[in-house]
Amino acid sequence: MRQIRMLLFIAALAALNGCAGPNNIRAGIDPGNASPVSSQSIAGVMVSKKIPTAKIRPVADTSSAFRGDKLIALTFDDGPRPYVLFGSKESNRGPGLVDILDQNGVKATFFVVGWRLTPKTWGEPRHEENIGVSCVDAAEQLIRRGHELEDHTYSHLELRSAEKKNGEQWVMHDVDRGAQAIKAVTGTQPRYVRPPDWILTDDARRDLQKQGYRVLTISQENPMALRDVNSLDYLCAGKAVGCPKPSLPDAVLQQIEQREKRSVYTHILAFHELSTTAAIMPRLITDLKARGYRFVTLTEYMKLIESKTSEPVKQAAMTKPPSVAALSR
Ligand SMILES: [Zn+2]
Repeated sequence: MRQIRMLLFIAALAALNGCAGPNNIRAGIDPGNASPVSSQSIAGVMVSKKIPTAKIRPVADTSSAFRGDKLIALTFDDGPRPYVLFGSKESNRGPGLVDILDQNGVKATFFVVGWRLTPKTWGEPRHEENIGVSCVDAAEQLIRRGHELEDHTYSHLELRSAEKKNGEQWVMHDVDRGAQAIKAVTGTQPRYVRPPDWILTDDARRDLQKQGYRVLTISQENPMALRDVNSLDYLCAGKAVGCPKPSLPDAVLQQIEQREKRSVYTHILAFHELSTTAAIMPRLITDLKARGYRFVTLTEYMKLIESKTSEPVKQAAMTKPPSVAALSR
């Protein structure tokens, strides 16, 4: 009997060591993280964490604040594009993005463009297939299926140039107009804005934040957990010139590995509503799940990040605009 008790004690210790991975505070084994680490990065800030030695927390602790989650907020810009979301009717190009997300139990966040959410709009007629579903219908379905809609402006114009030409008020109005278009469909005021190409002047950023918007960024002045991971997926559309090697999912996983090396286990992934992007999602989602990641909407992501920090996460102003290839598509 004593021997059995001793064996149980050893097994419990082994489980404890196994669970002390970088982002796992509760007891339990995270297959992606077996090595003991005594600190974790929360919104890019190193927070020391004592590995418990005397007490084992029950595995069933579901309090998200104590889960030490490895999180992915999957985001898609530039839609709604019905033919990407629900599948093309031309040839057999595979399932639509929404079905792929549903099949994998993943809820995502869509940064949509306001002009698309006007009645009888089916997308850009010159480039986009009309599958008989309007952009508004597509947006409504996204909401019904548990996804989130956020603001990618009304016009999708590059906002720094637009500000130079039309003034800051025009920029503020363009973001607001995009938000209103979303609210008319969802009934909810969007809180997050991703400027096209992430380009925005400091003044406009500050003023949008004053109005209660949270502006998504790739600026290095922000904690890594709040910095978008630019998937570069737009380089894989069309002729795919410049598509990351060896493949888009591999390149995204490499970026995530680089962040993990800096003890960052929470990532906002920035993709676009593109058929080529939809096609890589099954593999990417499977790989990320195998690494222990959980998929959440952006709102949930931010809530979880903030719940891990003692004070609300603050955004730094962006002093230099990023130099990224134009994404205006
Ligand atoms: Zn865009």
